[in-house]
Amino acid sequence: MDTFYLDHAATTPMREVAAAAWMEHAQALNPASQYGSGRKARSVADSAREEIASLLGCEPIEVVFTASGTEADNLAVQGLYQASPLNRIVSTPIEHPGILETVNALALGGAEMDLLPIGPDGRVSSLAALEIPAAVATMMWANNETGAIQPVAEFIAAAQASGTPTHIDAVQVVGHLPVNFAELGATTLAASAHKFGGPRGVGLLLARRSPAPSAVLHGGGQERGIRPGTLDVAGAAATAAALREAVAELESEATRLSGLKKTLLDAILQRIPNVLVHTTEPALPGHLHLSFPGAEGDSLIMLLDSLRIEASTGSACSNGVNRASHVLLAMGITETDARGAIRFTLGRTTTQESIEAVLAVIEDVVTRARTAGMAF
Ligand code: PLP
Repeated sequence: MDTFYLDHAATTPMREVAAAAWMEHAQALNPASQYGSGRKARSVADSAREEIASLLGCEPIEVVFTASGTEADNLAVQGLYQASPLNRIVSTPIEHPGILETVNALALGGAEMDLLPIGPDGRVSSLAALEIPAAVATMMWANNETGAIQPVAEFIAAAQASGTPTHIDAVQVVGHLPVNFAELGATTLAASAHKFGGPRGVGLLLARRSPAPSAVLHGGGQERGIRPGTLDVAGAAATAAALREAVAELESEATRLSGLKKTLLDAILQRIPNVLVHTTEPALPGHLHLSFPGAEGDSLIMLLDSLRIEASTGSACSNGVNRASHVLLAMGITETDARGAIRFTLGRTTTQESIEAVLAVIEDVVTRARTAGMAF
């Protein structure tokens, strides 16, 4: 029996081209050394950096390899905060924990934190807080749970008007929507290779020359001193290969996945009563976040898993306890309804057959989960 993986926003299988590049350069040595093998490794890393820069509309020097999207987010937000004489941070309540917890930690250390309001559609609804200058303003380009695309151009323009540097968490966007860092005008931008078919454990931080984030990690000065440590050359090459393919098929995949998502959503709404749809357009093509009030998200996930369908609640759970998502709460969804949430995220391996597999069982799964009721 086949397994249908519908959690591509969490991580997506590595592309063949990325695995091949990874294997090809697995033996690469230290690209910072001056002898032949070092120069050879350096040339592979340079090519990867140049290719990523050209695919994302920035200069090669602006590409900083990190170990994850979380690390890129931390280095940018903490580093820009440290680089500024101001102590104010602007963000949103729907950020991924990689940003949210970083901002919270800085607030505990004395930063003044201002969170922009969120409308019922899951988007930032007012940029007024950006009128007052801040050390850094940080917002995601698209939300990892709902897929909602945020008003990123307006956010950057408003921050620029008050001279505030901006960090954009584009982890869900790079490889899925067109990105041009120079045109965007952000100060820094985070991406993560495993979200577009590269290896897990490689992140990207795009960072303008100025203002540059101050060093958060201290070491041998690699990656402009922003991310010191010996570079993972094979990971860099695999990331470039994955991004090349992802960008090449971006448009056709967006059309294909939006079509599959529509089929799934229309059929769910037709067959199942009382469904809350949290994904509002414009959204990432593969994201569909819903609640089935009266059902526990965990029950839905476990019942689907027993039928070899892999989806997630979308929110981070702690110690196995299903917590209402902070994103849905910020949108004004009640705690009980938020706990009935399930996120299907479609990706490269998703086909019509995957959608039919979900549709064949979803009515029964929701009925069973609703009969079981809420845990407390
Ligand atoms: N930011 C967003 C919006 C994400 O969706 C994720 C991962 O889910 C991250 C940051 C963290 O990326 P990584 O898993 O590479 O640390």
